[in-house]
Parts: sequence; structure tokens; C-alpha cells
Amino acid sequence: MLPRCGSKSLTWDATVVKNTSVKDGLLRLHEVSGLFYLGCDECSETVARATAHEVADFLNANMQEAK
Ligand SMILES: [Zn+2]
Repeated sequence: MLPRCGSKSLTWDATVVKNTSVKDGLLRLHEVSGLFYLGCDECSETVARATAHEVADFLNANMQEAK
């Protein structure tokens, strides 16, 4: 999971994405979902992305291990 520029300076960030073709400004909450993405701090290339559900699954899996 490295960008083409080879930088190891990466940061996770979160945003929301549309699930429909409805124009921004006319969207309802169920028409957007959370998305996490791992971006390069140098060139801002996106090297990985995960949906909010995938992040929740990951957090749940880690919680099992902690028990
Ligand atoms: Zn880069």
C-alpha cells in the first residue's frame, strides 16, 4: 500500500460519497455513505479506501481479539 511516488507519509481521512446520481444539494441522508481513504501527504494520491461498513467490521474484529 504505497503510492507511486514512494512516499511513506500517508494519512487516513474520511469523507462522504453519493450513492445516487441525485445532484449535490438535493441529497437525503440515505443517499450518501461514509468513506475512508488513505492518501499520500506528498502527492495526494489515494492508495486505499474503505467503506464505513468495512471500517466497522474491522473495529468489531479487533474488539473480539481484545476480549
Ligand atoms: Zn505521493
